[in-house]
Amino acid sequence: MSETLRSVFPPVYWSFLPSFFTKPAPREDKATCDRCAMASPAEGGHALPGAIHFRPDVKCCSFHPRLPNYLVGAILSDDSPDMDEGRRRIRAKIAARSGVTPQWISPPEKTQLLLKATRRTSFGRSLVLRCPYYEVESGLCTVWRHRDSICSTFFCRYSAGADGANFWTAMRSYLSHVERRLAEHALQRVAPQLREPEATPGELTLEDLEDRPPAHYSVCWSEWEGREEELYLRCHEHVAAIDRHEFEAIANNGDGRALLDEAVRAYRQATAPTLPDRLVMNAAMVCIPGDGGMYVRSHSRYETLFLPLELQEVLCDFRGDQTVAENQARLAHDKGVRLPDDLLLTLYQARILVAPSP
Ligand code: SF4
Ligand code: SF4
Repeated sequence: MSETLRSVFPPVYWSFLPSFFTKPAPREDKATCDRCAMASPAEGGHALPGAIHFRPDVKCCSFHPRLPNYLVGAILSDDSPDMDEGRRRIRAKIAARSGVTPQWISPPEKTQLLLKATRRTSFGRSLVLRCPYYEVESGLCTVWRHRDSICSTFFCRYSAGADGANFWTAMRSYLSHVERRLAEHALQRVAPQLREPEATPGELTLEDLEDRPPAHYSVCWSEWEGREEELYLRCHEHVAAIDRHEFEAIANNGDGRALLDEAVRAYRQATAPTLPDRLVMNAAMVCIPGDGGMYVRSHSRYETLFLPLELQEVLCDFRGDQTVAENQARLAHDKGVRLPDDLLLTLYQARILVAPSP
């Protein structure tokens, strides 16, 4: 761990996020983005049986973020050269008018349906799903510094296994809540007369289907039509000026406090993990027999691990009616096998071992 949690997220949050965000961020070294850990092995390389791979020109940017108004404003007001392309793409989005509302720049409805329907089969595997903010030549994100809660918290693999995944998922839920509350609050202050359009989930209008601006665009933007950039910039100015006291009043509203508590609890488990009292082999793992052992996939579709036969046999002897310490003592006595706590912890975080069902 080196950078703080706060520094993982866009600069607009830095002055007011709760003190919890000054803690070190878990390092996710398994997500080697420069040489994508999920990319198909180079020709002649060895692919693990059953492993899922991503296209190297798509990676996990098989997605379209929903940017809150104040992050759109942050992108537009960031005049550093590395944001030139991001600004250009945001302006193109605004000009296209699809998914452009006072609180968000969202994926067009058709894209949202496609992403949902293909998530299991095609995530990371098709150019059709590639994010509009992804730059192909560099393989980088053009809006990285101001990316949304989902892009900020996604990793394909986690150093702390399932505990790491749980932590980042909890952070995502909290940050998504913060985004909704701040976008709503900023709009209320900047243009209280504007309303978000209502959409019927799962349904496409004729305009959605034909990639045209929505029929309600002028009604939705009212006198701000043609001044969308100005609205986003003012929402950013407003959020950037919020202090911690005001932030807490806005964010703790509704589920905010409970979501933050859950993120704090998940952080503790990811960074100072504890073993359950009892453990057994995970019967729900996907197992593929291999040479001298088996390939297993447990909590994540994106990580395949190899379990040598000797270890597999010992773990099968783990009994749920005994505590971990009793199992360790029995296996040492009966089989002469020592299973140190740190090995058990690694196996538990990978959810190869799990707490027995009640
Ligand atoms: S997080 Fe995304 S880019 Fe990074 S290694 Fe994983 S799939 Fe590749
Ligand atoms: S916004 Fe950036 S990080 Fe997120 S999916 Fe698009 S290119 Fe990837």
